[in-house]
Amino acid sequence: MTSRTAMNGQEEPRPKHLWIGGSWRSGADGQTFTATSPSTGRAIGTLQRGTAEDVDAAVRAARAAFNDYRLLPVWERAAICERIAQLILENEAHLAAVVSADQGKPLHREALPEVRKAATGYRNAAAHVKHLYGQTIPVEDPHKRVSTVRQPRGVYAVVTPWNAPVNIPTEYLAPALATGNTVVWIPAPSTSLCAVALAEILEEAGVPPGVINLVTGEGSVVGDAAVAHPDVDAVGFTGSVTTGRHIAHRAAGKAQLLELGGNGPTIVFADANLELAAEAIAAASFTNAGQICSASEVVLVERSIQAELGALVAALAQERRLGAPEDPGTSLGPLNNHDVADKMDRHIADAVDLGARVLTGGGRAPGRPTENYYEPTVLTGVPRDATLFAEESFGPIAPLTPFDDIAEVLEALQSRQFGLASAVWTRNMGRAMRVAEAARTGTVVINGPSTYWELHLPFGGGSGTSSGLGRIGGLQTLEAMTDLKTISVDLRGF
Ligand code: NAD
Repeated sequence: MTSRTAMNGQEEPRPKHLWIGGSWRSGADGQTFTATSPSTGRAIGTLQRGTAEDVDAAVRAARAAFNDYRLLPVWERAAICERIAQLILENEAHLAAVVSADQGKPLHREALPEVRKAATGYRNAAAHVKHLYGQTIPVEDPHKRVSTVRQPRGVYAVVTPWNAPVNIPTEYLAPALATGNTVVWIPAPSTSLCAVALAEILEEAGVPPGVINLVTGEGSVVGDAAVAHPDVDAVGFTGSVTTGRHIAHRAAGKAQLLELGGNGPTIVFADANLELAAEAIAAASFTNAGQICSASEVVLVERSIQAELGALVAALAQERRLGAPEDPGTSLGPLNNHDVADKMDRHIADAVDLGARVLTGGGRAPGRPTENYYEPTVLTGVPRDATLFAEESFGPIAPLTPFDDIAEVLEALQSRQFGLASAVWTRNMGRAMRVAEAARTGTVVINGPSTYWELHLPFGGGSGTSSGLGRIGGLQTLEAMTDLKTISVDLRGF
């Protein structure tokens, strides 16, 4: 199971196995499921449908590996991350082809950049772990010397979504590897071929047996078993609010890093550079077909420029070429699954019922191999009681809601249930900072797309919102994935 498997759109007869304790094996009860291409609807692989028994085996393997792995010198753990980065780059064409076929994002424009970004994630972890400093702390007692060290937490359950199937797992696996944790990784079923392809790279890079374990299957079965397992010490989860809340409950008492949903907003004042704002909104709303937690899913626009901004974004939407992910001319791929398309239908119908106007798009593109091809959609006049104003749509949509003064913006920012990422467009720096400081979102971009992020920047939900707990990104994740231990030494005892 170490050879790279071709991803040519043909059905893969050999089932992709679970990776537990360094060996590839079928699931305990031998059940499998089929990976289906979102762009063609055809079967592209067969995967193991793992069980709680498989998760238990993976946790035992991770526990057994932890004792040795945590003692591996930091420089050696960093070298493993470096080798993974190198192998990802050497195999980028293969990995990108798997991501594009399995997830649906355009091969050249999005899948390849995602894979390259993942290599950066492993490089960053290798670099950051060498700067994961403790402290020496002055104390009152003259005989004592006190310092802190950061130590791995132990066995992690990592549960990841399908929208960035190589990059989001990397946000956890790379810092886990660097800091000496071991992992049971549960990927989303609809992008589990990507997970197997990445695990093959980890194996080839020399990740010791049991340090990372991959169990595919239904999240409600294997994900649940992993996060609730009594011998799992900590949980890393990226996904929806509903699942995140469930996991927070099931993993109560364990360290938790939860990266959940978001829906903006992007705020545009009348003095903004409208061309740049429109480009940023189109990029943030239509990249990855809008399946990004920090997408511009709510655009609050000063009423006097709503029509102009709407027209600019609609023109950019119409320039997007919706097509097969492997086609080099495609700039918008299909959605990953029917659920997102169905939710888009519901949200748009509800907004239109309440008075919103569709400038472009508004439904599924006809005559495509599957129903996942969704037209990039721009709406104006979306009222604040529309479902899509409050909930995450997660599709290619830029809905504009007018406002009349900054007080309305500040009020809206405070009352929103999500708090992940926002953007503000204005040439007035004082106003931009007032908005940035008032937003409850973990990140705010001034005069840029709400999706702007580099892997080493802190990213996560604001406290009291539904968007999660903790910060992912670079050194912050390494800190989050380690326990701070205080060691006190009394000099008189020597
Ligand atoms: P999801 O919550 O449906 O699934 C996420 C993962 O959880 C999948 O692997 C799934 O199999 C698993 N799962 C499902 N039920 C489970 C259960 N009962 N116990 C344990 N695991 C379970 O989310 P999704 O649809 O795969 O992903 C999209 C969501 O992820 C969106 O809400 C998006 O905003 C969010 N997201 C957040 C970030 C971030 O950094 N904050 C990044 C990307 C995506």
